[in-house]
Amino acid sequence: MDYIIIAEAYGKIDGTTKRLEMTDYLVELLKKTPKEVISKVIYLTQGKLYPDFVGVEMGVAEKLAIRALMRATGNSENSIQAELQRRGDIGETAEKLLSKRKQSTFFTKPLTVQRVYETLDKLAKTSGSGAVDTKMGLFSGLLTDASPQEAKWLIRTVTGNLRIGIADMTVLDALAIAYGGGKEAREKIERAYNISSDLGRVASVVAEKGIEGIEQFQVRVGEPIRPMLAERLGVPEEILEKFGGKCLAEYKYDGERIQAHKNGDTVLLFSRRLENISDQYPDVMELIRIQIDAKDAILEAECVAIDLESGDMRPFQELMHRRRKYGIQTAITQYPVSLFTFDVLYVNGTDLTQKSLPQRRQTLERIIKQNIRLKPASQQLVKTSKQLEDFFEKAIEEGCEGLMCKSVGDDSVYQAGNRGWLWIKYKRDYKSEMSDTVDLVVVGAFHGRGKRAGAYGALLLATYNPEKDTFETVTKCGTGFTDKDLSQLYEMLQTHVIAHKNARVQSTLEADVWFEPAVVLEILGAEVTLSPIHMAAMDSIRKNSGMAIRFPRFTGKYRTDKSPQDATTSKEIVEMYKGQLKKIGELLP
Ligand code: ATP
Repeated sequence: MDYIIIAEAYGKIDGTTKRLEMTDYLVELLKKTPKEVISKVIYLTQGKLYPDFVGVEMGVAEKLAIRALMRATGNSENSIQAELQRRGDIGETAEKLLSKRKQSTFFTKPLTVQRVYETLDKLAKTSGSGAVDTKMGLFSGLLTDASPQEAKWLIRTVTGNLRIGIADMTVLDALAIAYGGGKEAREKIERAYNISSDLGRVASVVAEKGIEGIEQFQVRVGEPIRPMLAERLGVPEEILEKFGGKCLAEYKYDGERIQAHKNGDTVLLFSRRLENISDQYPDVMELIRIQIDAKDAILEAECVAIDLESGDMRPFQELMHRRRKYGIQTAITQYPVSLFTFDVLYVNGTDLTQKSLPQRRQTLERIIKQNIRLKPASQQLVKTSKQLEDFFEKAIEEGCEGLMCKSVGDDSVYQAGNRGWLWIKYKRDYKSEMSDTVDLVVVGAFHGRGKRAGAYGALLLATYNPEKDTFETVTKCGTGFTDKDLSQLYEMLQTHVIAHKNARVQSTLEADVWFEPAVVLEILGAEVTLSPIHMAAMDSIRKNSGMAIRFPRFTGKYRTDKSPQDATTSKEIVEMYKGQLKKIGELLP
C-alpha cells in the first residue's frame, strides 16, 4: 500500500470539522487498506507506532526535522526558518519546500506504508551516542522520496503534530462500518478495545476474522484493561436505593491506581492512564512477584504512601514524591507505599471480568499473601444508611477519601472502560455545597490583558460526554493561577494549538485560541447553574439550557494522570446540580 493513500485521507480528514464526515473518510481509507498493514495504518492515523502502553515515542524535535529537510531539499537553515515563520506550521513548510524542489524522478522509490512504518520504528528505537545523526539520516531518506503532500504528513507525524483529531471512538465507529457490517457491531468491537487497549490489534482481528473473531477476543497478560470507573452520589439513601437496598462499601484510598500484570516472575505496572509505570515502583513489582500466589494474574490496587512503623496512611502529596525518573531507590525508603487491592481481573488463564464482584473478591482473597504492604481493600456489606455513614466516618478517620460503594448483584461484572452505576463513589466533599472539585479539559483560551498580556487571561473548560464522545464547555476560568502556572500552562498548551475548533468540542463561545482536548485541570467551583451559553448536558434539565460552573478556580492540581476522556462527565455535573437542589430543598422551611 502506498503512503500517498494515507496522506490523501489525512488531507480530507483535516479539512472537515464534522465527526460523521471524518468517520466516512476513515472508513474509505480502511477499505483501501490491505489486512496485513491495517494495524500499522491505525497506529499511524493516531500519530503513533504502537498502543500507548508500549511507551515507544518517535521523539523527533523540530530542530532535527529541519536538518532532515535541509538535507532532502538542499535549502539552507535560514530559508527553512523563514518559510516556517511565514506559515507557522512545519508540515506546510515541508510541503512548500518540496514542491519547489527540482527532482529527478528516476531515482526515487515510491513510499509504501511498510517502509514508512519500519523507518519510523527504527528511528524511534535509535538511542545512545550518534542517535541524532542516525535519526536525521533515516528521516531525510524518507523525505527525499516523498511527494510534497506526503512530506507534510510525515513531518507532522514524527514531530508529534499530526492533530487530525482521530479519537479512539472515531476509529471504533469506522471499524464497525468497514468490517463489522454497520454501527451495531460497535459495542462488540469496543469491548475488545476495552480489554486490550490496543486499537491496532482490534483492527487486525476484525479485518481478518470479522465479528466472530472479535467475539473470541481474549484478555492478555501484558495488555492493560481499560479501568472501570464510578458514578458519584452524595446521599447514602440514594446510594442504597440504586443498589436495591444493599451494597459492598469499600474504603476509597487516596493514592494512585495501579493495574498489576504478573506473568511468572515478570511484573508490569500500569497507571490509571495505562502508561507503563513499572520503573517508578520496583518495590511494588517485588510485592506482586512474591505475594501473589498465582502463575499469572491481573489485579487492581490503590498504591498509598504509608508510615511503615505505625501502618498509618500518609497523605496523597507524599506519594507524589514517587513520581520521578531518578533517585528511585532513595525514594523507596523515604516514601514507602502499601498496596490495597480492590479487584482481580484474570488468574491462571481465566478471564474474570464477566464474573460478579463477590466471586472476584473471593479469588482475590485466595491469591494474596497479606501483610502490612499488601492487603485487600477494607470492606463491609451495608444494608442501612446508618451502617454506610458509620463505615464512611471510619474510612475518613483512617485517612481515606470516602467510600466506593459497589454492586454485589449477579450482574456486578467488571465494566472495563466504563463509568457506570455498578460503582458509586461517596466522598466527604459531596456533603457540603459544591465544594467538590471537578476535572475539566482545556479546549480554548482568551488572550490576557494588562498583567497577563502575552499569556492566557482565561481558559475555556469542558466536561466530557461519553455517549456522544464530545467535550462540552462548562465554564471560563481565570482565577487560581500563579504566575508560574500561567507560564507553565502557556508552554503546555502550545503543543496543542489548532487552527479551528476541534470537531469534538461543543461550544457557542468563540475562543481566541483553540486546543485539541489534551490538558486536564482540577477546578473548584462554587455552584452549578443552568446556562444559556455553555453546552454541558444541553437540554437535559431544561430545553435550550446547558450547565455551567460558577466562580471556578484552579486548585493548582494538573491532572496529568487523566486523559481528556477521563475528565468529569456532563452527566456528573447534572447529578451535582440535582444534589444542590435537594440541599436547598432541605434547608427551606
Ligand atoms: P477521583 O477524581 O475522585 O479520584 P477518578 O475520576 O480518578 O476519581 P473514579 O472512578 O471516579 O476515578 O474513582 C475511582 C478511583 O478511586 C479509582 O480510579 C481508584 O484510583 C480509586 N480507588 C480507591 N479505592 C478504591 C476502591 N476500593 N475501589 C475502586 N477504586 C478505588
